[in-house]
Amino acid sequence: MFLRFIFLVLLSSSVLASSHSFEDFLNNLHQLATEQGVSKATVDRAFYQLTPNLDILESDRSQAEFSQNFWNYLGKRVSQYRLDNGYDTLKQNRSLLNKTYQQYGVPAHVLVSFLGLESNYGNNTGSYSLVRSLATLAYDPRRSVFFTSELIALLKLIDDGKVPLEATGSWAGAMGAVQFMPSNVIAYGVDADNDGKIDLWNNQADILASAANFLEHLGWNRGEKWGREVTISEDFNYEFVGLKTKKQLDEWQTLGIRSANRSNLPESSMAASLILPMGYKGPAFLVYQNFRSILGWNHSTLYALAVGHLADRLSGGGSLLATPIDEPLLKRDDVMAIQQTLSLLGYDAGEADGIAGPKTRAAAKDFQKDIGMVADGYVGYELFQRLQ
Ligand code: CA
Repeated sequence: MFLRFIFLVLLSSSVLASSHSFEDFLNNLHQLATEQGVSKATVDRAFYQLTPNLDILESDRSQAEFSQNFWNYLGKRVSQYRLDNGYDTLKQNRSLLNKTYQQYGVPAHVLVSFLGLESNYGNNTGSYSLVRSLATLAYDPRRSVFFTSELIALLKLIDDGKVPLEATGSWAGAMGAVQFMPSNVIAYGVDADNDGKIDLWNNQADILASAANFLEHLGWNRGEKWGREVTISEDFNYEFVGLKTKKQLDEWQTLGIRSANRSNLPESSMAASLILPMGYKGPAFLVYQNFRSILGWNHSTLYALAVGHLADRLSGGGSLLATPIDEPLLKRDDVMAIQQTLSLLGYDAGEADGIAGPKTRAAAKDFQKDIGMVADGYVGYELFQRLQ
Protein backbone atom coordinates (compact mmCIF):
# COMPACT_ATOMS: atom_id res chain seq x y z
CA MET A 1 0.00 0.00 0.00
CA PHE A 2 2.75 2.38 1.00
CA LEU A 3 4.77 1.58 -2.13
CA ARG A 4 1.74 2.18 -4.24
CA PHE A 5 1.29 5.55 -2.57
CA ILE A 6 4.89 6.51 -3.37
CA PHE A 7 4.37 5.34 -6.95
CA LEU A 8 1.29 7.54 -7.32
CA VAL A 9 3.12 10.52 -5.87
CA LEU A 10 5.93 9.97 -8.37
CA LEU A 11 3.39 9.76 -11.16
CA SER A 12 1.73 12.99 -10.14
CA SER A 13 4.80 14.79 -11.41
CA SER A 14 4.53 13.01 -14.74
CA VAL A 15 2.01 13.24 -17.52
CA LEU A 16 -0.60 11.17 -15.71
CA ALA A 17 -1.19 13.89 -13.11
CA SER A 18 -4.70 14.89 -13.98
CA SER A 19 -5.42 12.43 -16.72
CA HIS A 20 -8.29 10.02 -16.43
CA SER A 21 -9.17 9.29 -20.01
CA PHE A 22 -6.77 8.11 -22.69
CA GLU A 23 -7.57 11.29 -24.60
CA ASP A 24 -6.49 13.50 -21.69
CA PHE A 25 -3.37 11.40 -21.35
CA LEU A 26 -2.49 11.89 -25.04
CA ASN A 27 -3.06 15.63 -24.75
CA ASN A 28 -0.58 15.85 -21.89
CA LEU A 29 1.86 13.63 -23.72
CA HIS A 30 1.52 15.77 -26.84
CA GLN A 31 2.74 18.76 -24.86
CA LEU A 32 5.57 16.81 -23.23
CA ALA A 33 6.82 15.44 -26.58
CA THR A 34 6.81 18.82 -28.31
CA GLU A 35 8.59 20.36 -25.31
CA GLN A 36 11.29 17.76 -25.86
CA GLY A 37 11.71 18.76 -29.48
CA VAL A 38 9.37 16.46 -31.42
CA SER A 39 7.52 18.40 -34.13
CA LYS A 40 3.82 19.02 -33.61
CA ALA A 41 3.05 17.54 -37.03
CA THR A 42 4.67 14.20 -36.10
CA VAL A 43 2.83 13.95 -32.78
CA ASP A 44 -0.45 14.84 -34.48
CA ARG A 45 0.06 12.12 -37.07
CA ALA A 46 1.13 9.53 -34.44
CA PHE A 47 -1.81 10.20 -32.11
CA TYR A 48 -4.48 10.52 -34.82
CA GLN A 49 -7.41 8.25 -33.84
CA LEU A 50 -5.11 6.35 -31.46
CA THR A 51 -6.80 3.98 -28.98
CA PRO A 52 -5.26 1.83 -26.23
CA ASN A 53 -4.74 -1.87 -26.99
CA LEU A 54 -6.12 -3.81 -24.05
CA ASP A 55 -4.58 -7.12 -25.24
CA ILE A 56 -1.18 -5.62 -24.48
CA LEU A 57 -2.07 -4.89 -20.87
CA GLU A 58 -3.20 -8.49 -20.52
CA SER A 59 0.11 -9.79 -21.95
CA ASP A 60 1.98 -7.48 -19.59
CA ARG A 61 0.07 -8.70 -16.54
CA SER A 62 0.19 -12.45 -17.17
CA GLN A 63 3.36 -14.11 -15.93
CA ALA A 64 4.59 -17.52 -16.97
CA GLU A 65 3.24 -20.13 -14.58
CA PHE A 66 6.40 -22.23 -14.50
CA SER A 67 9.90 -21.05 -13.73
CA GLN A 68 12.36 -22.27 -16.36
CA ASN A 69 15.32 -24.50 -15.75
CA PHE A 70 18.50 -24.62 -17.79
CA TRP A 71 17.86 -27.72 -19.94
CA ASN A 72 14.27 -26.81 -20.58
CA TYR A 73 15.25 -23.26 -21.60
CA LEU A 74 18.19 -24.34 -23.75
CA GLY A 75 16.20 -27.08 -25.50
CA LYS A 76 13.61 -24.55 -26.65
CA ARG A 77 16.11 -21.95 -27.80
CA VAL A 78 18.92 -23.98 -29.36
CA SER A 79 16.81 -26.35 -31.45
CA GLN A 80 17.87 -27.99 -34.73
CA TYR A 81 15.56 -25.59 -36.54
CA ARG A 82 17.29 -22.63 -34.93
CA LEU A 83 20.72 -24.06 -35.78
CA ASP A 84 19.81 -24.63 -39.44
CA ASN A 85 18.46 -21.10 -39.82
CA GLY A 86 21.59 -19.80 -38.12
CA TYR A 87 23.94 -21.56 -40.56
CA ASP A 88 21.92 -20.06 -43.45
CA THR A 89 22.06 -16.57 -41.92
CA LEU A 90 25.84 -16.86 -41.51
CA LYS A 91 26.27 -17.97 -45.11
CA GLN A 92 24.02 -15.27 -46.59
CA ASN A 93 25.76 -12.41 -44.74
CA ARG A 94 29.37 -13.55 -44.67
CA SER A 95 31.06 -10.45 -46.12
CA LEU A 96 28.91 -8.05 -44.09
CA LEU A 97 29.61 -10.06 -40.91
CA ASN A 98 33.36 -9.95 -41.60
CA LYS A 99 33.21 -6.21 -42.11
CA THR A 100 31.26 -5.75 -38.86
CA TYR A 101 33.81 -7.88 -37.02
CA GLN A 102 36.68 -5.75 -38.32
CA GLN A 103 35.00 -2.60 -37.07
CA TYR A 104 33.53 -3.67 -33.71
CA GLY A 105 35.35 -6.88 -32.74
CA VAL A 106 32.21 -8.97 -32.25
CA PRO A 107 32.46 -12.25 -34.22
CA ALA A 108 29.89 -13.34 -36.80
CA HIS A 109 28.61 -16.36 -34.87
CA VAL A 110 27.96 -14.23 -31.76
CA LEU A 111 25.99 -11.59 -33.68
CA VAL A 112 23.98 -14.22 -35.51
CA SER A 113 23.27 -15.98 -32.20
CA PHE A 114 21.73 -12.78 -30.78
CA LEU A 115 19.55 -12.42 -33.87
CA GLY A 116 18.50 -16.05 -33.50
CA LEU A 117 17.39 -15.67 -29.90
CA GLU A 118 15.80 -12.25 -30.28
CA SER A 119 13.74 -12.75 -33.43
CA ASN A 120 14.59 -16.08 -35.07
CA TYR A 121 17.05 -14.22 -37.33
CA GLY A 122 14.68 -11.38 -38.11
CA ASN A 123 11.71 -13.61 -38.96
CA ASN A 124 9.68 -12.83 -35.80
CA THR A 125 10.04 -9.13 -35.14
CA GLY A 126 6.49 -8.61 -33.84
CA SER A 127 3.35 -7.21 -35.45
CA TYR A 128 2.13 -4.71 -32.84
CA SER A 129 2.07 -1.02 -33.76
CA LEU A 130 4.94 0.42 -31.74
CA VAL A 131 3.25 3.77 -31.17
CA ARG A 132 0.07 2.07 -29.97
CA SER A 133 1.91 -0.46 -27.75
CA LEU A 134 4.05 2.13 -26.05
CA ALA A 135 1.16 4.59 -25.65
CA THR A 136 -0.92 1.83 -24.01
CA LEU A 137 1.86 0.81 -21.62
CA ALA A 138 2.64 4.47 -20.83
CA TYR A 139 -1.05 5.08 -20.04
CA ASP A 140 -1.08 2.13 -17.61
CA PRO A 141 0.10 3.56 -14.24
CA ARG A 142 2.37 0.65 -13.31
CA ARG A 143 5.46 1.56 -15.38
CA SER A 144 4.26 4.81 -16.90
CA VAL A 145 7.49 6.75 -16.41
CA PHE A 146 9.61 4.16 -18.27
CA PHE A 147 7.20 3.66 -21.17
CA THR A 148 6.49 7.40 -21.50
CA SER A 149 10.18 8.07 -22.08
CA GLU A 150 10.36 5.14 -24.55
CA LEU A 151 7.34 6.50 -26.44
CA ILE A 152 8.94 9.96 -26.68
CA ALA A 153 12.17 8.31 -27.89
CA LEU A 154 10.14 6.54 -30.60
CA LEU A 155 8.45 9.81 -31.60
CA LYS A 156 11.90 11.43 -31.94
CA LEU A 157 13.05 8.59 -34.21
CA ILE A 158 9.91 8.98 -36.33
CA ASP A 159 10.34 12.77 -36.40
CA ASP A 160 13.93 12.36 -37.63
CA GLY A 161 12.80 9.98 -40.38
CA LYS A 162 14.88 7.14 -38.95
CA VAL A 163 11.94 4.86 -38.15
CA PRO A 164 8.57 4.85 -39.99
CA LEU A 165 5.39 5.87 -38.16
CA GLU A 166 3.74 2.54 -38.94
CA ALA A 167 6.66 0.47 -37.57
CA THR A 168 5.66 -2.71 -35.73
CA GLY A 169 7.37 -4.68 -32.96
CA SER A 170 6.76 -6.72 -29.83
CA TRP A 171 3.85 -5.89 -27.54
CA ALA A 172 6.41 -4.38 -25.13
CA GLY A 173 7.74 -1.94 -27.73
CA ALA A 174 10.93 -3.71 -28.87
CA MET A 175 11.78 -3.42 -32.54
CA GLY A 176 13.50 -5.25 -35.34
CA ALA A 177 15.78 -8.27 -35.59
CA VAL A 178 17.66 -7.12 -32.47
CA GLN A 179 14.51 -6.18 -30.52
CA PHE A 180 15.88 -2.84 -29.32
CA MET A 181 13.73 -0.47 -27.27
CA PRO A 182 13.53 3.02 -28.87
CA SER A 183 16.02 4.52 -26.36
CA ASN A 184 18.53 1.81 -27.37
CA VAL A 185 18.01 2.68 -31.03
CA ILE A 186 18.83 6.30 -30.21
CA ALA A 187 21.86 5.36 -28.09
CA TYR A 188 23.31 2.48 -30.14
CA GLY A 189 21.48 2.25 -33.48
CA VAL A 190 23.77 2.62 -36.50
CA ASP A 191 22.77 3.75 -39.99
CA ALA A 192 25.52 1.63 -41.54
CA ASP A 193 24.50 2.14 -45.17
CA ASN A 194 24.00 5.91 -44.73
CA ASP A 195 20.50 6.13 -46.17
CA GLY A 196 19.22 8.24 -43.25
CA LYS A 197 17.20 5.38 -41.72
CA ILE A 198 18.01 2.91 -38.98
CA ASP A 199 16.26 -0.05 -40.54
CA LEU A 200 16.43 -2.86 -37.97
CA TRP A 201 13.88 -4.94 -39.88
CA ASN A 202 15.25 -5.41 -43.37
CA ASN A 203 18.68 -3.84 -43.67
CA GLN A 204 21.35 -6.37 -42.59
CA ALA A 205 24.08 -3.70 -42.47
CA ASP A 206 22.09 -1.54 -40.02
CA ILE A 207 21.03 -4.61 -37.97
CA LEU A 208 24.52 -6.10 -37.55
CA ALA A 209 26.28 -2.77 -36.92
CA SER A 210 23.67 -1.77 -34.30
CA ALA A 211 23.99 -5.08 -32.45
CA ALA A 212 27.80 -4.97 -32.57
CA ASN A 213 27.90 -1.32 -31.51
CA PHE A 214 25.70 -2.09 -28.48
CA LEU A 215 27.94 -5.02 -27.47
CA GLU A 216 31.07 -2.94 -27.89
CA HIS A 217 29.56 -0.37 -25.48
CA LEU A 218 28.72 -3.20 -23.08
CA GLY A 219 32.43 -4.04 -22.86
CA TRP A 220 32.84 -6.82 -25.42
CA ASN A 221 36.52 -7.84 -25.68
CA ARG A 222 37.74 -8.59 -29.19
CA GLY A 223 39.38 -11.99 -29.51
CA GLU A 224 37.99 -13.46 -26.26
CA LYS A 225 35.42 -16.20 -25.82
CA TRP A 226 32.30 -15.73 -23.66
CA GLY A 227 33.11 -18.74 -21.51
CA ARG A 228 33.45 -22.53 -21.62
CA GLU A 229 31.81 -25.64 -20.27
CA VAL A 230 33.83 -27.25 -17.45
CA THR A 231 33.66 -30.07 -14.90
CA ILE A 232 34.08 -29.72 -11.15
CA SER A 233 35.80 -32.12 -8.74
CA GLU A 234 33.73 -34.07 -6.20
CA ASP A 235 35.17 -32.26 -3.19
CA PHE A 236 34.70 -28.82 -4.76
CA ASN A 237 34.09 -25.89 -2.41
CA TYR A 238 30.79 -24.36 -3.53
CA GLU A 239 31.59 -21.08 -1.77
CA PHE A 240 33.30 -20.06 -5.02
CA VAL A 241 30.21 -20.41 -7.21
CA GLY A 242 28.65 -17.25 -8.67
CA LEU A 243 29.50 -14.11 -10.62
CA LYS A 244 30.77 -12.32 -7.50
CA THR A 245 33.88 -14.54 -7.35
CA LYS A 246 36.50 -13.94 -10.06
CA LYS A 247 39.66 -16.05 -10.29
CA GLN A 248 42.28 -16.64 -12.94
CA LEU A 249 42.09 -19.83 -14.98
CA ASP A 250 45.29 -21.04 -13.27
CA GLU A 251 43.59 -20.77 -9.87
CA TRP A 252 40.49 -22.60 -11.06
CA GLN A 253 42.75 -25.40 -12.32
CA THR A 254 44.30 -25.65 -8.83
CA LEU A 255 40.81 -25.77 -7.27
CA GLY A 256 39.94 -28.83 -9.34
CA ILE A 257 38.13 -27.33 -12.34
CA ARG A 258 38.83 -29.01 -15.69
CA SER A 259 37.58 -28.61 -19.26
CA ALA A 260 34.32 -30.38 -20.07
CA ASN A 261 36.29 -33.29 -21.58
CA ARG A 262 38.35 -33.45 -18.32
CA SER A 263 41.55 -32.11 -19.91
CA ASN A 264 43.49 -29.32 -18.19
CA LEU A 265 42.31 -25.73 -18.52
CA PRO A 266 44.43 -23.55 -20.82
CA GLU A 267 47.30 -21.88 -18.96
CA SER A 268 46.05 -18.33 -18.66
CA SER A 269 45.67 -15.47 -16.23
CA MET A 270 42.28 -14.62 -17.73
CA ALA A 271 39.67 -13.84 -15.04
CA ALA A 272 36.64 -16.12 -14.87
CA SER A 273 33.63 -16.86 -12.68
CA LEU A 274 32.04 -20.26 -12.16
CA ILE A 275 28.32 -20.69 -12.69
CA LEU A 276 26.18 -23.76 -12.11
CA PRO A 277 22.74 -23.05 -13.59
CA MET A 278 21.29 -26.30 -12.15
CA GLY A 279 23.47 -26.73 -9.11
CA TYR A 280 26.04 -29.42 -8.43
CA LYS A 281 24.44 -31.91 -10.81
CA GLY A 282 25.75 -29.81 -13.68
CA PRO A 283 26.37 -28.41 -16.18
CA ALA A 284 29.16 -26.04 -15.07
CA PHE A 285 30.61 -23.04 -16.91
CA LEU A 286 33.56 -20.72 -16.46
CA VAL A 287 32.50 -17.35 -17.85
CA TYR A 288 34.60 -14.33 -18.88
CA GLN A 289 34.06 -10.61 -19.41
CA ASN A 290 32.13 -11.18 -22.64
CA PHE A 291 29.52 -13.17 -20.71
CA ARG A 292 28.97 -10.06 -18.59
CA SER A 293 28.49 -8.05 -21.80
CA ILE A 294 25.76 -10.47 -22.86
CA LEU A 295 24.13 -9.96 -19.44
CA GLY A 296 24.19 -6.21 -20.15
CA TRP A 297 21.97 -6.89 -23.17
CA ASN A 298 19.59 -9.11 -21.16
CA HIS A 299 20.07 -9.64 -17.44
CA SER A 300 19.21 -13.35 -17.41
CA THR A 301 21.85 -16.02 -16.84
CA LEU A 302 19.87 -18.55 -18.87
CA TYR A 303 19.60 -16.09 -21.78
CA ALA A 304 23.34 -15.36 -21.68
CA LEU A 305 24.23 -19.07 -21.59
CA ALA A 306 21.87 -19.74 -24.51
CA VAL A 307 23.46 -16.92 -26.57
CA GLY A 308 26.93 -18.27 -25.79
CA HIS A 309 26.09 -21.89 -26.52
CA LEU A 310 24.20 -21.10 -29.75
CA ALA A 311 27.19 -18.99 -30.87
CA ASP A 312 29.54 -21.91 -30.16
CA ARG A 313 27.34 -24.31 -32.11
CA LEU A 314 27.15 -21.90 -35.06
CA SER A 315 30.95 -21.75 -35.16
CA GLY A 316 31.24 -25.53 -35.32
CA GLY A 317 31.21 -26.51 -31.65
CA GLY A 318 29.37 -29.58 -30.40
CA SER A 319 26.60 -30.16 -27.87
CA LEU A 320 27.29 -29.72 -24.17
CA LEU A 321 29.01 -32.73 -22.60
CA ALA A 322 27.05 -32.62 -19.31
CA THR A 323 24.18 -35.09 -19.10
CA PRO A 324 20.79 -33.36 -19.23
CA ILE A 325 18.79 -33.71 -16.02
CA ASP A 326 15.11 -34.45 -16.32
CA GLU A 327 13.89 -32.54 -13.31
CA PRO A 328 10.26 -31.47 -12.77
CA LEU A 329 9.81 -27.75 -13.44
CA LEU A 330 8.86 -25.69 -10.41
CA LYS A 331 5.82 -23.47 -10.62
CA ARG A 332 6.26 -19.87 -9.59
CA ASP A 333 4.03 -20.72 -6.62
CA ASP A 334 6.52 -23.45 -5.65
CA VAL A 335 9.39 -20.96 -5.72
CA MET A 336 7.30 -18.58 -3.62
CA ALA A 337 6.68 -21.43 -1.13
CA ILE A 338 10.44 -22.08 -0.98
CA GLN A 339 11.09 -18.39 -0.32
CA GLN A 340 8.42 -18.21 2.40
CA THR A 341 9.58 -21.39 4.14
CA LEU A 342 13.23 -20.35 4.07
CA SER A 343 12.33 -16.98 5.58
CA LEU A 344 10.15 -18.66 8.25
CA LEU A 345 13.10 -20.87 9.17
CA GLY A 346 15.23 -17.76 9.69
CA TYR A 347 17.01 -17.67 6.31
CA ASP A 348 16.25 -14.32 4.67
CA ALA A 349 15.15 -15.26 1.15
CA GLY A 350 13.96 -11.75 0.29
CA GLU A 351 10.55 -10.92 -1.11
CA ALA A 352 8.49 -14.01 -1.99
CA ASP A 353 8.10 -13.09 -5.66
CA GLY A 354 8.51 -16.52 -7.25
CA ILE A 355 11.85 -15.60 -8.82
CA ALA A 356 14.99 -17.17 -7.36
CA GLY A 357 17.35 -14.19 -7.31
CA PRO A 358 20.71 -13.78 -5.52
CA LYS A 359 19.10 -13.34 -2.08
CA THR A 360 17.00 -16.50 -2.39
CA ARG A 361 20.02 -18.49 -3.61
CA ALA A 362 22.13 -17.24 -0.69
CA ALA A 363 19.41 -18.26 1.79
CA ALA A 364 19.11 -21.66 0.08
CA LYS A 365 22.87 -22.12 0.36
CA ASP A 366 22.86 -21.45 4.13
CA PHE A 367 19.94 -23.82 4.64
CA GLN A 368 21.60 -26.57 2.59
CA LYS A 369 24.81 -26.18 4.58
CA ASP A 370 22.98 -26.44 7.91
CA ILE A 371 21.11 -29.63 7.04
CA GLY A 372 23.99 -31.33 5.23
CA MET A 373 22.85 -31.00 1.61
CA VAL A 374 25.37 -29.97 -1.07
CA ALA A 375 25.44 -26.20 -0.52
CA ASP A 376 25.24 -25.05 -4.15
CA GLY A 377 22.39 -22.57 -3.62
CA TYR A 378 20.39 -24.10 -6.46
CA VAL A 379 16.67 -23.47 -6.11
CA GLY A 380 15.30 -26.63 -7.71
CA TYR A 381 13.13 -29.65 -7.15
CA GLU A 382 15.37 -31.31 -4.54
CA LEU A 383 15.32 -28.22 -2.31
CA PHE A 384 11.58 -27.88 -2.81
CA GLN A 385 11.00 -31.46 -1.60
CA ARG A 386 13.28 -31.05 1.42
CA LEU A 387 11.48 -27.89 2.51
CA GLN A 388 8.11 -29.56 2.24
CA1 CA B 1 20.29 2.62 -42.96
